Amino acid sequence: MRTFHRALVFALIAVNILSPIYMLDFCQSSDLDCHNHDMSSDIQPSAHTYKSRWNISVTNLMKDLDHFRVSSKKLIETFPVDEISGNFVRTVKNCIFSKSIPTPLKGPLKLAALSKVVIEEILDLDMAVTHSSDFLQFISGGRLLPGSVPLAHRYGGHQFGFWAGQLGDGRAHSLGQYKNRKGDVWELQLKGSGKTPFSRSGDGRAVIRSSVREFLCSEAMHSLGIPTSRAASLIVSEEPVLRDQFYNGNVKTERGAVVLRLAKSWFRIGSLEILAESGEIDLLRKLLDFVINEHFPSIKANDPDKYLVFYATVVNETAHLIAQWMSVGFAHGVCNTDNFSLLSITIDYGPFGFMESYNPNFVPNTSDDEGRYRIGAQANVGLFNLEKLLVSLSPVLSQKQQKEAKHILKGYVDIYQMRIHQLFKAKLGLLGEETNDGFLIAFLLQMMEDTQSDFTMTFRQLSEASADQLHSRDFTQLWALEDLSLHLHFSEWLSTYLLRLNRQENEDVDRQHRMQSVNPRYVLRNWMAESAIQKAEMNDFSEVELLHHVLSFPFVTQETAEEAGYAARPPQWAKGLKVSCSS
Ligand code: AMP
Ligand code: MG
Repeated sequence: MRTFHRALVFALIAVNILSPIYMLDFCQSSDLDCHNHDMSSDIQPSAHTYKSRWNISVTNLMKDLDHFRVSSKKLIETFPVDEISGNFVRTVKNCIFSKSIPTPLKGPLKLAALSKVVIEEILDLDMAVTHSSDFLQFISGGRLLPGSVPLAHRYGGHQFGFWAGQLGDGRAHSLGQYKNRKGDVWELQLKGSGKTPFSRSGDGRAVIRSSVREFLCSEAMHSLGIPTSRAASLIVSEEPVLRDQFYNGNVKTERGAVVLRLAKSWFRIGSLEILAESGEIDLLRKLLDFVINEHFPSIKANDPDKYLVFYATVVNETAHLIAQWMSVGFAHGVCNTDNFSLLSITIDYGPFGFMESYNPNFVPNTSDDEGRYRIGAQANVGLFNLEKLLVSLSPVLSQKQQKEAKHILKGYVDIYQMRIHQLFKAKLGLLGEETNDGFLIAFLLQMMEDTQSDFTMTFRQLSEASADQLHSRDFTQLWALEDLSLHLHFSEWLSTYLLRLNRQENEDVDRQHRMQSVNPRYVLRNWMAESAIQKAEMNDFSEVELLHHVLSFPFVTQETAEEAGYAARPPQWAKGLKVSCSS
């Protein structure tokens, strides 16, 4: 035991010195605070008729698109729109949106995937609608619905630490808002739908591989309970799209695809940054008032500190979001300010990755040479991005408020640490609080790093093994625990853990249930996505569908998933996989 304590002390020192703030955290599923904005869509539809702003009464799911109304009215009436039209690249000033018509994907088109939950529960559409050619046209940019004025959003951003100037929706079109029968307003967007004024040197398209990844991951993150944009459909075409996937001069012809994606709002830190940078302060205030009014109902319009309260909320929610990413080993890959939502939801899925062997230096994006967005740096990068948010808010804050905002930002690290601690305690099934809990977690992670144990499966197998099984070190079939148990100090850690569990409850099965509800058995590992993509490129979408289904229930053991090896040791070929920024 003395050795173990020495080891723990060492681990704590190591953790304090070496790790910035990448460490730990988790919450009970009953903890309401765990879920923000997006989770409201999980509430079962009520039977009552909802009369929407667009005068649609939806009692049952709609059987065709004739009555499906989206509206761009609110956005174009609230904000000035670019006076120039046309999809040619330009610097855009004094507006939030440019009108931009999608360029339809060239046929023949194939509907590769649908999210039934999104179609039915968010869009109020009967799945029968998705069989119509109208629907295919709609989701591939070939048909606009009445009320839709497609818009490309003007934003800027800090990319890899530096101000990049105007970025904007270079290949996405906002089709308008839809208010569903629950009263939730969602903004629909096509991604990969052609050039806009913000396309810079891009072609406005997205290829199959990145679109499959975005479709699958947004829905998988939602099912993990992590705030995220959603995906309704994925359509692929024969349209040739040229990509140099690894930026090594090897240009290949791929195929264009479009994802219909949804969020309560697509505004980002970069949406405010561009306005502050170009001195458009009235517009900055207008955008802030709109975002607050629409998405932060507890902030009163006449509160003289409303922008400060808004800032404090975003600081808090961003810390929570990144802690949740860390709790499932998710690395976003490109944490630029233009990819950080003002609603603190996960957006813009690109070269993301779920960490396999535990490694704080895990970098999912092979184009990120310096490892700026390595998993262990995400919390610090969040801090950087929130600093940039504060800079862009400064023109609307008094001197005193700016000082207070800086003070609020200082609290970010504590919020993050507190959340991480909660989340990882739940991952280990720890109830209450004991002085050594931090040691227990930190030391486990250190052992996982030393033994390169699989992050997802170590926690899952600790959840699945009974205390007796752990005690007798019976790890048959528990491959991740087998790896972990090779650590010199594993026995000491295990006995301390079992003693800790022993002190808290009689029924071990309760602990197992609790842990299994927060430790997923299935996450979207790169090799799983890659396998589905390879088939999709041959027009076989069966594995996309399988993964979509499996990842909708990540905490439940499923036969088909087991047969596919999704909870098994990753195949050897997975080690050589690379994901770049090219999409
Ligand atoms: P991302 O790295 O996907 O967040 O994109 C960064 C910026 O590049 C955004 O302004 C995108 O709209 C733009 N962009 C990325 N790919 C393309 C493309 N193929 N065509 C036009 N714009 C693009
Ligand atoms: Mg982006």
